[in-house]
Amino acid sequence: MRHVDEYRDPAAARRYGDAIAQITTRDWILMEICGGQTHSIVRHGIDRMLPWGVSLLHGPGCPVCVTPASVVDAAIAMASRPNVIFCSFGDMMRVPGEAGTLFTARASGADVRMVYSPLDALAIARENPDREIVFFAIGFETTAPTTAMAVLQADREDLRNFSMLVSHVLVPPAMEALLSGPHNAVQGFLAAGHVCTVMGYVDYEPLVRRHKVPIVVTGFEPLDLLQGIYMCIRQLEEGRAEVENQYSRSVRRNGNERARAALAQVFTIEDQAWRGMGEIASSGLTLAPAYARFDARKRFPDIVVPTPNPSECISGDILRGLRKPGDCPAFGTRCTPEHPLGATMVSSEGTCAAYYRYRRLEAGEMALRRRA
Ligand code: SF4
Repeated sequence: MRHVDEYRDPAAARRYGDAIAQITTRDWILMEICGGQTHSIVRHGIDRMLPWGVSLLHGPGCPVCVTPASVVDAAIAMASRPNVIFCSFGDMMRVPGEAGTLFTARASGADVRMVYSPLDALAIARENPDREIVFFAIGFETTAPTTAMAVLQADREDLRNFSMLVSHVLVPPAMEALLSGPHNAVQGFLAAGHVCTVMGYVDYEPLVRRHKVPIVVTGFEPLDLLQGIYMCIRQLEEGRAEVENQYSRSVRRNGNERARAALAQVFTIEDQAWRGMGEIASSGLTLAPAYARFDARKRFPDIVVPTPNPSECISGDILRGLRKPGDCPAFGTRCTPEHPLGATMVSSEGTCAAYYRYRRLEAGEMALRRRA
């Protein structure tokens, strides 16, 4: 496959591994932000090609994983209303809240439909003028522009039976929270290439200045990741902290200006809770006052969600890079993709799902040793 194979060439990967080893003189801890990068690293064994002492922590960049249980519960409560058609991406269907999942709500009679885009939900709204259509808008800066376009379209058509449960989050504030946290060990970041395709990387420049931590915008294929790691370690070894762009075939400094303009028009920024990470300042998007009539929370103001129960799931620590799936006693036994206890095992971008898929025996053994 052209454009894919050229970024997976084993000989070139070995050359990058050797080059990283040559420039590395001490231990370094890097974090890749995006769940897609985590899957590629675990799948292709990128972390095993690195010199001893260079480690990769897996970051919070899985949109499904960071959506709070309370938002999932609000989704279930809305979906369970008699006149509602609730539309969601497939990944969110199995994510557990306190009240179950959207799948279990559907099994109990709720009209929950899987869609690929908010535009599909708009079509359902047009076809069902007597029903209330709610779209579950989750994700990072990559999916938020499509949500914004759908809101603008609904506004143009004056669709009265369409609303959104919005839980979009922003990456730079999460990086700021990680770097400012008391347990931070991250010395360099691989930023998510697709997020930067939309947003550019100007927002990372203040982070780099404030925390003196290199950030390399990086793609998702093995050679992208190895080159991003090389660039990050080279900065660390040279005592530099800058934003560099490994993913220049897709990312420009200012990103996609039209997409950014749509986000600025439709949303305002607010504090937001992340699953397992708590509230992060200025990390969420909410509908701007001009579009508040499409806010499902305002349309269903009486929704009450259950109080969260304590859980043995340690996905909050995993999302902050403090622990890995093998540190969880439930990994591979009480928690599997078929019976997930936490969102990081459900999502196709979740770290626990990546380890279950590609390193099940090894991580499972570690979990067993911890249980013994
Ligand atoms: S293995 Fe399951 S229970 Fe453990 S942290 Fe991952 S999702 Fe949570």
